[in-house]
Amino acid sequence: MSYLALYRKYRPLVFDDVVGQEHIVRTLTNQINTQRVAHAYLLCGSRGTGKTTIAKIFARAVNCEAPVHGSACGVCSACQKVQDGSGINIIEIDAASHNGVDNIREINEEVKYTPAVGKYKVYIIDEVHMLSTGAFNALLKTLEEPPAHVIFILATTDPQKIPVTILSRCQRFDFKRLSAQEIEERLAQSMSFYFDETITFDKVLYMVGAVDSSILFDMIYAIIAQDTKKALELCEAVNRQGKSIRQFAGDLLEHSRNLLVAKTTNGTASVLDYSSEYITRLKEQAEGIKINELMRYIKHFGQLEYELRNALSPRILLEVAILKLSEVQMDTSPESMMTKMQLLEQKLEKLIEEGLKAAPTVPVQAAVFSKEVVPARLPKAVPEDIRVLIKKWPEIKAKLGRAAWSIFETTEAGFVEEDIFYIVYKQGMDVGVNAHLEDLKKAINEIAGKEVRVRPIHADEYASKCIEVYGSHPEQTEDIKDMASILKNVAAKINFNIELKN
Ligand SMILES: [Zn+2]
Repeated sequence: MSYLALYRKYRPLVFDDVVGQEHIVRTLTNQINTQRVAHAYLLCGSRGTGKTTIAKIFARAVNCEAPVHGSACGVCSACQKVQDGSGINIIEIDAASHNGVDNIREINEEVKYTPAVGKYKVYIIDEVHMLSTGAFNALLKTLEEPPAHVIFILATTDPQKIPVTILSRCQRFDFKRLSAQEIEERLAQSMSFYFDETITFDKVLYMVGAVDSSILFDMIYAIIAQDTKKALELCEAVNRQGKSIRQFAGDLLEHSRNLLVAKTTNGTASVLDYSSEYITRLKEQAEGIKINELMRYIKHFGQLEYELRNALSPRILLEVAILKLSEVQMDTSPESMMTKMQLLEQKLEKLIEEGLKAAPTVPVQAAVFSKEVVPARLPKAVPEDIRVLIKKWPEIKAKLGRAAWSIFETTEAGFVEEDIFYIVYKQGMDVGVNAHLEDLKKAINEIAGKEVRVRPIHADEYASKCIEVYGSHPEQTEDIKDMASILKNVAAKINFNIELKN
């Protein structure tokens, strides 16, 4: 099968032709239009999600004299030079084969010279996680003080392998896998010409290196049904197909998180940036699972993903995690009673704790959060101030220097009826966020004219916070009541004094 031909044929030249990745395309075209670009980008995502395609479109666009819709015009002199090959402003390096310190030193020498044509020299380093430690250190030197005319675009399938010192200096974008719908759209263009056999969804998934989402649904259904045999068969299927176990664990984690969002947001599609077909299936599946059960899945899959980073036998860890998820419910022996009771107790404590946290009368103490630095003199911002301030997020970001802006450009401003201005960041961004937090606080205080409590928060934690504060949570409240009465009964039987607050 001629994958390469297909790949070349469908590699778009402008952002408008890119299928999927709307959030990334939107941010990057906006940067081109406002002529404000970062000095280093990190594009993360599995094979076939469009990282290098987007890197190249962006590299051409930054040098174009008159970009159209955020993409290169193709007719100006800079664009012409790129097309005829005489423009050498876009330099591609495959780190898989050029991973030594000397390769990067060469780049460090080159970047000192301004480009002959256009505004920027753009270095696209693919598979950047393959760089040696020495090479990363050399790269860091340039990233610490990047010349104004240089842009680095690092692409990787494995962001975990990249040192935090590098991560914290890049604007990070996480590429989603294309949904079935998006792949179909891409294929609806005279595909059959390239294949002399029938195209199946599986073949396409194989081509883009994705795990079929139906296996994720099947796995969760098997766990709900406590069908361990089926669950282990699915593990075997993933293994047999040569798919990455770690990727699969990550997919299960993301799937569980999506189920939680689908359940708690009443299926607001805007929160889930996926195809409508997938969201419908999510809602269906989420109906059959309780919130606390989903929380348990997320915890287990999260832990599994973490453990798999250095695992020698990933498959065994996967199987153990899958077994753990259904083991307690399956076990009906008298010996399991104590474990079950303890679990019940822990769950109850957690739920009560969450219930208390969600209560609006309990103020969050400032002292708990060591990251906050509050300047003196200014009056303190109240929740109403934060509400107003959130709308000024673009204005706040515009006040930042290039390095801080690069980091905060892809974070969100958040507010949950407290006197706290949340900075909502995604996986792996915490180092960069904390490194530039002081700059951000200064900008916020200046715009507010008040002393504002600013706190960085991971997107998942922020989502649960929103659920606590805004979600009606009838189910969770019922859970608390149920658990409370069960525990009270158990406690009475074992003559254990317990006090429960409503
Ligand atoms: Zn142009």
